[in-house]
Amino acid sequence: MSAVSIRPGPKDLAAPPVQACGPDGGDRAARAWAALQAVPDPEIPVVSIQDLGILREVTMAGDGTLEVVITPTYSGCPAMAEIAEDIGRALDAAGLAPWRIRTTLAPAWTTDWITAEGRAKLRQYGIAPPGRCGEGEGGARTAGAKRMQFVPHAARAAAALDLVACPRCGSLHTEQLARFASTACKALYRCRDCREPFDYFKPY
Ligand SMILES: [Zn+2]
Repeated sequence: MSAVSIRPGPKDLAAPPVQACGPDGGDRAARAWAALQAVPDPEIPVVSIQDLGILREVTMAGDGTLEVVITPTYSGCPAMAEIAEDIGRALDAAGLAPWRIRTTLAPAWTTDWITAEGRAKLRQYGIAPPGRCGEGEGGARTAGAKRMQFVPHAARAAAALDLVACPRCGSLHTEQLARFASTACKALYRCRDCREPFDYFKPY
């Protein structure tokens, strides 16, 4: 079964899609990828599902149906149904039907998949972007199974020890006020210099 595939490159998740070969399939997948750039995350609308790394892949299946692959940020994240609806609306609006959406849980989503652009948008919005939970920049994209063993410990260590920069003034004089903020994905922090409270998107 041959299929063309548009997906982020291994090194730069924000890389523009490469147009794959094929009579029409590559072009349709590329157009779908572009159309989905505008789909916002329901919980943090300043970032898109591409910025967060939720949108994994757009594939042209052998039967002529576009297959959109998404990975939920947290298992049971209630926003996924809304995201799927938004994806369908965007593809229909762009005239790209038929399509189907496939959810994949492995490898598990990690905050390391948030793109540089996504991190910048979070900061502008007043949310401190997550620290890396992989083994440094190079280890951030290790195999999912290996990372899944590593992350819980790293996440605990990050919460206990890591310094979180204030998204407004950049100060590292910050303190955690609560382990959970507006959503379970975030912790509530306060800057000791500018006194502003802010959400920290926890590494996961
Ligand atoms: Zn500050």
